Amino acid sequence: RVKEKWAATRVKHPPTRLALQHFDATYGTQLGDLWPSVRVALLTEKKYGALLNNFSFDVDVGITDLQAQRCRDFISDIHGGAEPWEIGGKNQTSGADGNDQQLSPPTLSPNIKCYVFPRGDVTRFKPARPDSHGLLGYYLMDAASVLPCLALNVQEGHTVLDLCAAPGGKTLALLQTQLVRFLCVNDASISRTSRLRKVLHSYVPKQFLTDERVRITSFDGTTWGEIEKNTFDRVLVDVPCTTDRHSLMEDDNNIFSKSRTGERRRLPQLQAELLLAGIQAACPGGEIVYSTCSLSLNQNLSVVEQAVYLAQENFGIQLQVVNLRALTKMFSDTFCFAPDLHLGEMVVPHLAANFGPIYFCKLRRLA
Ligand code: SAM
Repeated sequence: RVKEKWAATRVKHPPTRLALQHFDATYGTQLGDLWPSVRVALLTEKKYGALLNNFSFDVDVGITDLQAQRCRDFISDIHGGAEPWEIGGKNQTSGADGNDQQLSPPTLSPNIKCYVFPRGDVTRFKPARPDSHGLLGYYLMDAASVLPCLALNVQEGHTVLDLCAAPGGKTLALLQTQLVRFLCVNDASISRTSRLRKVLHSYVPKQFLTDERVRITSFDGTTWGEIEKNTFDRVLVDVPCTTDRHSLMEDDNNIFSKSRTGERRRLPQLQAELLLAGIQAACPGGEIVYSTCSLSLNQNLSVVEQAVYLAQENFGIQLQVVNLRALTKMFSDTFCFAPDLHLGEMVVPHLAANFGPIYFCKLRRLA
């Protein structure tokens, strides 16, 4: 029971409730029969993955410890999980048209390892411990957030731009590959950039963070096309979005609060501008991965379609959409992927594998 004096000041429509109403209206239509189960999962505690820190001096001890808890590295242990999910009566390893696509398995950047508890096991990870040099053994993040980094497929000697990088989970995953020659890490928010800096120093030895190897900036990413065109082999554009899970769980800093309505409505426009800037920053032949942690069609497929159109119209940049079905097939025993997306891939939350939502789409610059 709420006391009178509090009842007077209590917010009538808490942002979390507004978010749920909005999602019921939009995702109910978008996801159809899938929405009730995704909704339950979104309202339930999420599952983490432990991104292993290869830079830790205790990395072997860390692996033994995680394995002793029955965790598995979902990336190397491709078929060690369980049977692929069947949702909506369809096996997710089938192509969008229901036919199996004859795609060869993708090459994956080595050294990215992410440990997860088995399907249905909701044990929480213990906080990571520092080694004798103060470096932490693992970084806890949504395991599905590693997929955009794997899709980026960084190769030896690449230059990489991480356009919206804070707090730095995906940056850390990219650094784990130890293949990047030069990494440019950017985030428009100064406070979040300083958090990102702290994260990097807690996981990566100083000699890997020199100015020649890593540059940390705080620019508005939408202007990147004017700053540095045709430069990077790989660009990650992990945009601000409605962060669906956070919006349902936390009233603080919630994008569905009335005061942030304008900001929320402008998100697709900002996202398209960021992706367009990322496309311009990539070199011809370079690859770009766009990602969000939202289920919204307007923030996912529509943004990619708009940016691809504008890149061609405004800058004469031609792009090819890279089919990621082989990648999702590899991990379909760990994650529940949305069936039948015609552009990009999406991990949808499921009670037994409560990761995501994560949407990701890969583009290749042809010219
Ligand atoms: N990639 C990060 C990670 O894996 O930890 C998460 C990025 S978060 C989804 C989106 C980020 O975009 C926020 O940190 C936000 O500060 C940043 N951002 C918002 N507007 C931006 C802009 N115009 N340019 C660059 N970054 C921006």
